[in-house]
Amino acid sequence: MNESLLKSRAFINGQWVKTDKRFRVDDPFAQELIVEVSDCGEKEAHEAINAAHQAFKSWSKTPAQERSDKLLTWYQLIVEHLDDLAEILTTEQGKPLQEAKGEIQYGANYIKWFAEEALRINGDIIPSPDGNKQIHAIKQPVGVVGIITPWNFPQAMIARKVAPALAAGCTVVIKPAAETPLSALAMAELAQQAGIPDGVINLVPTSEASVIGEALTSSFNVRKISFTGSTKVGKILMSQAAQNVQRVTMELGGNAPFIVFDDADIDAAVDGIMASKFRNSGQTCVCANRIFIHENIYQEVIDKLVKKVEALKTGSGLERDVSITPLINQAGIDKVKRLVKSAQDDGAKVIVGGEVSEKHNQIFEPTIMTNVNFDMDIACEEIFGPVLSFIAFSNEASVVEQANATKAGLAAYVYTDDRHRIKRLSEQIESGMIGFNEGIISNHMAPFGGVKESGMGREGSKYGISDYLDIKYLCIK
Ligand code: ADP
Repeated sequence: MNESLLKSRAFINGQWVKTDKRFRVDDPFAQELIVEVSDCGEKEAHEAINAAHQAFKSWSKTPAQERSDKLLTWYQLIVEHLDDLAEILTTEQGKPLQEAKGEIQYGANYIKWFAEEALRINGDIIPSPDGNKQIHAIKQPVGVVGIITPWNFPQAMIARKVAPALAAGCTVVIKPAAETPLSALAMAELAQQAGIPDGVINLVPTSEASVIGEALTSSFNVRKISFTGSTKVGKILMSQAAQNVQRVTMELGGNAPFIVFDDADIDAAVDGIMASKFRNSGQTCVCANRIFIHENIYQEVIDKLVKKVEALKTGSGLERDVSITPLINQAGIDKVKRLVKSAQDDGAKVIVGGEVSEKHNQIFEPTIMTNVNFDMDIACEEIFGPVLSFIAFSNEASVVEQANATKAGLAAYVYTDDRHRIKRLSEQIESGMIGFNEGIISNHMAPFGGVKESGMGREGSKYGISDYLDIKYLCIK
């Protein structure tokens, strides 16, 4: 591993800060310590907020071209160190190395994209009703942004928020997930090498998330919270953010329906299901969670999937050709076990897998469950594990109703050859994103985000920067 990128201290105002307390970061496959990391509390959070607040004064006035150039240099350094960053990511998070490389490039793409968008923060000149003045709308950075991210994409979730924030002229205080702070710290090191000034990016790893969450939301100098994680924690942060009327971007949990109609290209649907479900061993918020198959093709789809699922190799993310790796921790395993067991008790059948691997106590065998009903726990909660759960359906109206019967509304997938149906379902399915005949939909050029309890705000695309900008109206006579 590249030791110069393996950082273990907090990063505040351009300094690597040691704390008395430290917490363990473990490799989920080897189940051993990688390194102990500085454990920040309220004091460090306030130092970081103050540093970001000071740095905002100059960064917000730094010319757009200069902000753009620095982001672009950061992007280039990340791409140059892609292999090293991927190794750190796999070691702390567990995902297959190939996927880690994919994540680093995916995250880096947001930095490049927003480096370009920094140059296009255009306002408007609007005619006035009485014609005797000018109305201008200009855009300004919102201020210091508190960023809280999860462990499932430890690099990309940070890149997707920091890039638009910095492009807009904001400064940031980042709290990475306790399971995966190392990818974040390595990014901070490269940001410093890229010449991003001290205090613009601050990073406070912690084992006590709520302490940092409270420090960020109780400070008036933090003007926005951008969070990716569970709906439960998102609600806590939204209510805390109300104290100071901080803006919020919330990317919360999903419960994606994956619907395959009997007119679909079945092989393409099977490939889409495999790609959508098994990436990161099922630990993504856009994973297919409930798979609805039309009854005419139900058996054929399952027969094809059985072969593919049985061929999946489990093991360490650092081994070649491995696609199913350990879940992040024991709690993740316990949740998947509970959902599979309760579905079985309610009448679902396990036809492949269904157990923790004999090889490794944190790997759940890739699993296929049939006879699932849309109101079982496994169809109502995010599984966050490598389990395909199949529900048969007979008509479009009923499947749309079942797909929408959830408070979540992040991603959905539909396989069909009928363009009229695509048009209907585009409007009827309640989710922020729909993949039609495509199982992998996220990229830097598209707006990522949810509706209902999956959150608010969009990341990526031309819309992604607006969450970090205020519009100011100037009436000029
Ligand atoms: P997950 O189930 O994916 O771990 P969480 O919502 O628990 O989802 O975690 C996402 C992020 O939110 C992590 O960085 C975690 O440390 C942080 N977090 C958890 N609880 C709180 C809290 N009360 N306040 C602020 N951040 C929190």
